Amino acid sequence: MPDREEIDRGFMRQALELGALGLGQTWPNPSVGAVVTREGPGGPVVVGAGHTQPGGRPHGEAMAFEQAGAAAAGGTLYVTLEPCSHRTLRGGTPCVERTLLAGVSRVVSAMADPNPRIAGLGHALLRSAGIEVVTGVLEDQAQRSHRGHVLRVTQGRPMVTFKVARTADGFAGGAGQARLAISCPAAGEWVHRQRAHHDAIMLGIGSVLADDPLLTVRLSGLELRSPVRVVLDTALRLPPASQLVQGADAVPVWVIAAEDAPVEAEARLVAAGVEVMRVARAADGHLDLAEALRLLATRGITRVFSEGGPTIGEKLALAGFADEVIVSTSPVELGEAGVVAVRPGLAALLADPKIYAVAESGVLGHDRFQHFTRIA
Ligand SMILES: [Zn+2]
Repeated sequence: MPDREEIDRGFMRQALELGALGLGQTWPNPSVGAVVTREGPGGPVVVGAGHTQPGGRPHGEAMAFEQAGAAAAGGTLYVTLEPCSHRTLRGGTPCVERTLLAGVSRVVSAMADPNPRIAGLGHALLRSAGIEVVTGVLEDQAQRSHRGHVLRVTQGRPMVTFKVARTADGFAGGAGQARLAISCPAAGEWVHRQRAHHDAIMLGIGSVLADDPLLTVRLSGLELRSPVRVVLDTALRLPPASQLVQGADAVPVWVIAAEDAPVEAEARLVAAGVEVMRVARAADGHLDLAEALRLLATRGITRVFSEGGPTIGEKLALAGFADEVIVSTSPVELGEAGVVAVRPGLAALLADPKIYAVAESGVLGHDRFQHFTRIA
């Protein structure tokens, strides 16, 4: 017979898997997974399960209770984040109230919600109503899943994943050329899947001018999950004829420019359906990345996927913003000196086990990949 802690971890793992399905779709809200169980003759059985829906509502708990109906009474709620305790302008019953109405006798929660409006209040309200509350079950996994939400409410910026592809000899492309098609089809599909689980894709104007990318998600079943496309474009050089701008009606394009970028260029882009925002320049004359990320957080973005190229990747990492770094390596060599994919500043940080840990590594088709997560 598995003991209760083992049972709790098993159902929490299910809740985490459910929550992960909604990543990239629920901003500005976290994607919460929830499972409701009740005792059966052979042990606990699942009577309801769900996750936060696109746009952020209904919350995961509401979905699970809806499915469980009266069967939730006397059962256990497993939830990947502390249930919300506050009413918002958008209305809806707070999940703490829903939990009380459903009549569960036990709540197992992975972690407290650092959102200052909740911050332990959800757990406390449940306890004061006489419900047994267990917290911290699989908390490490939950913290990682909710990293975007946590950073947004505690530091006012989204989580950033930086992804770079390189040749076997370490180059992102030839000197002065458009980016190479480095990745194999399997790795390409995986990148689309990663994109789909972020709220926004961010890249620099240099990459847009070189490659004219579309940056949507082109995987069957996930076409409607294309994140907002964000271009860091100091001087507003984004061509209105680019694929990004041409598709701005279907998938939003936000351009972040310097305060002194030409207003005529802004007018042209706005007429084409692009949203233009402005931030200050940093001391080096480029956009202030910290301010650009803050701006995205105020717009509700919690998870950013950066395919911005080696320079932006190094800058993000040196500033402490590259929370996750994915490096894929093709077996093909460029065979000449090109643009170094992992610049020295980023390489040094990735090699420091006090700063980054390898969360995952493996093979995608012909390519190898390493997924680093920032731990300090
Ligand atoms: Zn809620």
